[in-house]
Amino acid sequence: MRLIFLGPPGAGKGTQAQIVSEWLSIPHISTGDILRAAVKNETELGLKAKSYMDAGDLVPDSLILDMIRDRLEQPDAKSGWILDGFPRNVAQAQKLDEMLASMGQSFDRILSLEVPDDVLVARLLGRGKDQGRSDDNEAVIRRRLEVFYESTAPILEFYGNRPELTIVNGDAELDAVSEKLKTAIRPLSSV
Ligand code: ADP
Repeated sequence: MRLIFLGPPGAGKGTQAQIVSEWLSIPHISTGDILRAAVKNETELGLKAKSYMDAGDLVPDSLILDMIRDRLEQPDAKSGWILDGFPRNVAQAQKLDEMLASMGQSFDRILSLEVPDDVLVARLLGRGKDQGRSDDNEAVIRRRLEVFYESTAPILEFYGNRPELTIVNGDAELDAVSEKLKTAIRPLSSV
């Protein structure tokens, strides 16, 4: 099973992707988590990515594409995956198509979580206080939302006429959202 989770910052992609990845026993590949680990470990990638992340901007595609290719080639990604945070612009979506074609793979479903802006901002401000993520302060949150609407939302048009696209309302209780996602996935799987 190969799934793509889309949605604005604060939509609950990461949380839901983790729940679904455990349910299906497939790896949860979060580009944000990989980048934050790289920053923490001060790797070459981390050093290059940090200033973009702190500003709420996208890290350059060249860095992200190498990172994703390496990850998708790991043995645990052979049987499936959930992508969370990638693709994040139309160029990345096009590259993903090329990359999967070259690996003889394709994705089964794109799940797009929709949540109103005021709910997103409230959730992210709350998370910043609890978890101390350095990009969860109001100015950077506003920038991340702007980047989402400018760069990431157009992916929905790019994927617009594909039957794999499912829109899910993410403005609900955590468990209710998980159930809706599972309902969308179940017909594709043996779970
Ligand atoms: P959120 O979705 O809550 O904004 P993420 O953890 O997905 O958080 O991403 C955090 C930051 O990592 C982004 O603001 C961006 O700087 C960087 N990033 C993550 N994924 C990508 C990507 N596919 N392309 C470019 N930058 C990315």
